[in-house]
Amino acid sequence: MPHTLLAIDDSPENLDLIKNILEPHYAVKVALHGELALQIARSQKPDLILLDVMLNDICGFEVCQQLKNDDATRDIPVIFLTAMGSEDDEVRGFKIGGCDYITKPFSPNIMLARVRTQIQLKEKTDLLEKLASLDGLTEIPNRRAFDGALARQFNQAQRTIIPLSLLVLDIDHFKQFNDYFGHPAGDDCLKRVAKTLVEQTQRPEDMVARLGGEEFAILLPNTDFTGAMLRAEHYREAIEALRIQQVQHHLPPFLTASIGVATWAMAVHDSPIRLLEAADDALYQAKKQGRNRVCAISLHSHDTG
Ligand code: GH3
Ligand code: MG
Ligand code: MG
Repeated sequence: MPHTLLAIDDSPENLDLIKNILEPHYAVKVALHGELALQIARSQKPDLILLDVMLNDICGFEVCQQLKNDDATRDIPVIFLTAMGSEDDEVRGFKIGGCDYITKPFSPNIMLARVRTQIQLKEKTDLLEKLASLDGLTEIPNRRAFDGALARQFNQAQRTIIPLSLLVLDIDHFKQFNDYFGHPAGDDCLKRVAKTLVEQTQRPEDMVARLGGEEFAILLPNTDFTGAMLRAEHYREAIEALRIQQVQHHLPPFLTASIGVATWAMAVHDSPIRLLEAADDALYQAKKQGRNRVCAISLHSHDTG
């Protein structure tokens, strides 16, 4: 699949020129107005934007500013394309997040080379971003990605007053499993557990992440407390159903997990950290009460009033 570029210019002739240069190499979309360009950028997420500064409706700098203020379009590189060649303009373009500045009239080959450079850079950045957010062993989102998602979903819950639930799951007696079967078998086990949790996750907005060691988090937006308890029980059963052999006689025959549940409530959790703490406290209760179970903390015990 070729990369997609979006070219924005209020002159149809300029757009034709840009298309002629780039179309042999890229899929080129065009927009004559800033507003339309913003819509296309949000809905189609092009790999690169070529943006004229002088537009009929809104100024190109303003378009860039709006692109950079929106999570959905922030990471799309923007190359300014303009006849306004003053140093101040150029500096302004870089300041608001442009990645390059091409002055008209331009040489087609140089324009193509600059576009290529930015596309290659974007590919590398995307790959790095992806690698930095995945857990190396289980290939599911890591703690870093989870922290970001929790912060975003927490804000969303506060804004919309729609419940957000969080499950923290910890494998029971995993140290003994590891000590007996060895670290590689322990690693395999973690991979199977991660895969199962992902497979049992239904909604695209739900997120399963590895917090570290044998501890996982499941973030459930738009899910109230009752729903979260049901989901937690479902995950607990799914781990048990793997029938991964445990060893010691005093342990249950198969590997199990304990789960702590917390649901965001306005008066109680004033930060994502508080919500995570509540789920952790609930997990601690589940361990204390005998493991292989789901627990939740009564909201009032956390109410600081
Ligand atoms: P509890 O039921 O209270 O949770 O007990 P536990 O043994 O599961 O918990 P504990 O925190 O004492 O031990 C966790 C163990 O998980 C320690 C280590 O052997 C194992 N572990 C942590 N990270 C990894 C990993 O990446 N790979 C493997 N193979 N084992 C790990
Ligand atoms: Mg454990
Ligand atoms: Mg643990």
